[in-house]
Amino acid sequence: MDIEKIKSNLETRGISCEYFETGEEAASYLLRILNGRTIGIGGSKTIESMGLYEKLIENNKVAWHWKSEDADSARNEAYNAEVYLSSANAISETGEIVNIDGRCNRLTGTMYNSKEVYYIIGKNKICESLEKAVWRARNVASPLNARRFGLKTPCASGELKCHDCSSPQRICKEILITCGRPMGMDKMEVIIINEDLGY
Ligand code: SF4
Repeated sequence: MDIEKIKSNLETRGISCEYFETGEEAASYLLRILNGRTIGIGGSKTIESMGLYEKLIENNKVAWHWKSEDADSARNEAYNAEVYLSSANAISETGEIVNIDGRCNRLTGTMYNSKEVYYIIGKNKICESLEKAVWRARNVASPLNARRFGLKTPCASGELKCHDCSSPQRICKEILITCGRPMGMDKMEVIIINEDLGY
């Protein structure tokens, strides 16, 4: 993993980058910079494993459908928050961030309406090129997520790879490649953690 190369390529795209050895250090950093904010979170095993929601709610108003009895309202609230937190299915050393989504609330939150977006990404998601990042998102992250949700898709029950299925439960309805910070967004930042996190 060439962090300096990733940082430099992200900065060229208007995306800042911070690097931490552990999830705990990354969580402390986010707690320092996010205070008194409205924050939305997209579905993320990475964020869940860091216990970030429980820490952030002490000083912020946080909407996360994984922690709400009314998931639809929480998704809407997250979309309207100032800050949006997400992981990614892959990131290339050339600085593109790849995410796949079924309902697409997570993709939307990272694209529009948020003033600040933070991608929290473990080292297992780093790929050499955009092509390899898209491959990883389709053939590693999506099948593993389909298994986790117990979906009726060929990748969940058969070989761990994408079969480009037409299942109604297809988990990957949209693929987003973020090539730069969107216009009108004040800050987009990638936080890389030197641990294997999420899928
Ligand atoms: S298209 Fe179908 S087989 Fe491929 S990853 Fe998505 S759900 Fe799995």
